[in-house]
Parts: sequence; C-alpha cells; structure tokens
Amino acid sequence: MPRDPSCVFCKIVAAEIPSSVVYEDQYVLSFIDIGPLADGHLLVIPRDHYTNLTDAPPEVVGRVGSVLPILSRACLSVTRAEGFNVLCNQGRVAGQAVGHVHFHIIPRKEGDGLGYRWNAGKYPPGRDAELAAAYQKAILGRP
Ligand code: AMP
Ligand code: ZN
Repeated sequence: MPRDPSCVFCKIVAAEIPSSVVYEDQYVLSFIDIGPLADGHLLVIPRDHYTNLTDAPPEVVGRVGSVLPILSRACLSVTRAEGFNVLCNQGRVAGQAVGHVHFHIIPRKEGDGLGYRWNAGKYPPGRDAELAAAYQKAILGRP
C-alpha cells in the first residue's frame, strides 16, 4: 500500500493524527476539513498515497469517484446547502497544499460569498478545434 510517512493525510489514514471521519471503506476515507471554506466542507481521499490525480491509477480514482454522489447527498442533507462544488487542486499554482490526492466537497448557499472570480475568455476562430485535436492526440498517445 503506497504510503508517505511525512504525509498528513497518510497519518490520518493510519489514525496517527485525529480526524473527524464521515465515511470509510477499504479504499476511501472522507473526513471534515479542518480549515473549512463552509460549514461541513469535506475531503475525500484514497487510502493509498498518490501525490497527484495524474499519478493515481484509474481504479483508485474510480473508487474515490464512485463515493462522491453518496457523500455529496449527505453533504446537502447535513448542511442544508443548496449546492456544492467538487474541487481537486493539483500543483502549488492551483492551490494544492497537501500532496496526497484529494477532492473537496464544499457546500454552497446563496450569498455565501464564495463565488467564482474567474472570467470566461473567448477563443479566436479555429483555436477550440485545434485544442480538441491536440487533446485527442494526447489522450490516444497515453490512454
Ligand atoms: P489543498 O489546498 O487542495 O491541498 O487542500 C488541503 C486541505 O486540507 C485544506 O483545505 C486544509 O484545511 C485541509 N487539511 C490540512 N490538514 C488537515 C487535517 N489534519 N485534517 C483535516 N483537514 C486538513
Ligand atoms: Zn499521503
């Protein structure tokens, strides 16, 4: 089982440090984020240590993904939120602070002030098709 002894989430998996667990199975653990962006903010992780989403084998990501609907429904019912964001930060530039792949489930309510600040751009003619071709090539090159 991949494990990094210096990783805070591996320590949570091993119960070496406390956490407020909301769900666990053989492969997946979910617990309350100690620095919540909203009341009831959850983290969902594979028990195995992979730093990034792009390092984790598909079956590991699949096991995490398959419990997201269960946890999201629980999030809505426990927090009475109207919606939620599922977020995976990869890389420091994207805000990743803990190097053990994880998904956030962030409950959202009208007026919570957490809104996106991202401005949608616009492609020049042909750029979207060019990108789609590059993506298709990359995906075929590395299934
Ligand atoms: P990220 O910025 O995507 O790497 O998010 C890491 C998240 O882990 C942050 O939201 C932290 O609040 C949370 N976190 C860090 N240490 C702990 C811990 N010991 N227990 C619960 N959540 C933690
Ligand atoms: Zn870890």
